[in-house]
Amino acid sequence: MPQLRDIIDLDDLRQLMRFFYEAAGISVGILDNERTWLVSIGWQKICSDFHRACAASRRNCLLSEERIQDYLKGQDYLVYPCPNGLVEVSIPILLDDRPLGYFFMGQFLNQPPDHDYFRRQAIAYGYDQDKYLSALESVPIVSRERIDHLMGFFTRFFNLLTRIGAENQQRRRAEAETLKAKEQLETRVEERTRELNQALLEVGDLAAQLNESLQQVEHLAVTDILTETYNRRKFDEVVTSGHQFGNHEQAPFSLIMLDIDHFKKVNDRYGHAVGDKVLKHLSRVIRGLIRQGDLLIRWGGEEFLLLLPTTRLPEAGPFAERIRREIEKEQFPDAGSITISLGVAQLRQGDSTDALLKRVDTALYRAKQEGRNRVVLCSDPQLGKDDPANARVAGSVTE
Ligand code: GH3
Ligand code: MG
Ligand code: MG
Repeated sequence: MPQLRDIIDLDDLRQLMRFFYEAAGISVGILDNERTWLVSIGWQKICSDFHRACAASRRNCLLSEERIQDYLKGQDYLVYPCPNGLVEVSIPILLDDRPLGYFFMGQFLNQPPDHDYFRRQAIAYGYDQDKYLSALESVPIVSRERIDHLMGFFTRFFNLLTRIGAENQQRRRAEAETLKAKEQLETRVEERTRELNQALLEVGDLAAQLNESLQQVEHLAVTDILTETYNRRKFDEVVTSGHQFGNHEQAPFSLIMLDIDHFKKVNDRYGHAVGDKVLKHLSRVIRGLIRQGDLLIRWGGEEFLLLLPTTRLPEAGPFAERIRREIEKEQFPDAGSITISLGVAQLRQGDSTDALLKRVDTALYRAKQEGRNRVVLCSDPQLGKDDPANARVAGSVTE
């Protein structure tokens, strides 16, 4: 149940009551459920200076205030003589038939005063008789009929006021609740958006991790674990994609096949682990010599392929020779010096991969046969012996 002060603007109500007091000259008051005076206007001197000022007569006033609730039960309004001899009127201020407070009109008389009664009262409570009777002169006289009219008015007035006040309060509450629900919804939407963004970020992270893992897997699939050079699968990939093997004129392509000389002896003398270290070290040295775009592939055991895109035999030959010299100079940990033999060939028009591999393999075989630690080029039979493309480096064979 709302309080009267919650549904009615008290300043407006006081203003209204003041207008009424000034127009009608009758004191008015409004008491709420908790017995607090919300409005109290136009007190008669006889009440403020005498009845309320003396402890004994004041008790009468308070007692009547206290009991008004019981007196009013089931009645629209009540006209009653106050215990100090004046007339009071009271209406319950109702909302849905339940009282939120009480409206009082009082401190008046219905007819001219009985001076003897008031004189006796002055003696009983010890008031100054003359002053008391003079205060009595200002007490308004309001007929019973006028009271009935005024009460009819105020009963309807307060019914209207509480009904509109309660409706307004409900509307304000509903608005507040709607606003709260809207804010809660917005907060929820914000939270969900944050969660979704977070989830998206996580999915993005996962995708990146997955992508990285895939790249690692792809890298591992084409990598030789011991030497960290490419393996044969990479060679197959390059051959299948074909973009490194272009037209031999516009996009020349050369191949070097190299093999460690007498590697078996390295293993036999220093052990397999040292042999492994030699393979790793050799790969590192060669990787340091090749250009970006060249591919070093472990072809098997101690045999490697070097794929050299955009390279003709006259460049590939000296490059192979340079590798041979660098390896010859290199000191391999625990194994000392080693040498390698190399075969070199250039892709020819209409060449198959197998034909090219066969030529480079033959060149390597020749290098071994001719005493190892050397480079053999497989020169092009269609070019003359003096053509720079067929220049001999350390040895050359013709297929
Ligand atoms: P050649 O000069 O004719 O090439 O003589 P070679 O001894 O190098 O050739 P051979 O083919 O007789 O021996 C190759 C050796 O390489 C035999 C094998 O044990 C060794 N080998 C192959 N793969 C590995 C490897 O991964 N690690 C080690 N330590 N040795 C390997
Ligand atoms: Mg060998
Ligand atoms: Mg070999």
